[in-house]
Amino acid sequence: MLCSDARGSLVTAAVYALERFGGVQASFAAFLWGCAAPSPVRFFGWLLVQRRVNTRDVLLRKTIVTTEGAACPVCSCELETADHMVFECPFARSFWRAVGVDVVDKGYQVGALQALDVRGVVGDTACATFALLCCWQLWKHRNVVVFRGAVPSLARLLACCREDSALWRGRLKVAERSCVDRWLQVFSYPGR
Ligand SMILES: [Zn+2]
Repeated sequence: MLCSDARGSLVTAAVYALERFGGVQASFAAFLWGCAAPSPVRFFGWLLVQRRVNTRDVLLRKTIVTTEGAACPVCSCELETADHMVFECPFARSFWRAVGVDVVDKGYQVGALQALDVRGVVGDTACATFALLCCWQLWKHRNVVVFRGAVPSLARLLACCREDSALWRGRLKVAERSCVDRWLQVFSYPGR
């Protein structure tokens, strides 16, 4: 792999160097690499914005699944693409609705994740980290459905988001950490 060390671990600096290869920095690079999410999550984000995470459309292109097996594992309605998984799936939309971010009218796409406006919900601090936390947990929720046969659950997803919020608090600059209190409120289950 281009961006791993001898033991196969990811080297963020190498990914960043690759990102800047040819002197062109993609618009999402600063958004991703400048945020406080853990490196595996930033790397996930880097694959996501390029639609290179293994959603079923990607597996279909690689002939790992058939057309019949390429439906979204969460809603079973449409072909699973990265955009579907994060923004278009009815389940994802129920998540964003619970969080208070309007993704239906804005027409967001994963390829321009840096355009996702969460400021109205969490303020101006650590927005990229918050946005990436949401995408990361949608992906992990999807994987629990696929690999462990779990039933989709908004309550479980929001609980996992609260867990990561608490874990990531220490990754933020000291002056920014109080924003996590707001995140914890945002991720509370509706009606709780
Ligand atoms: Zn779906």
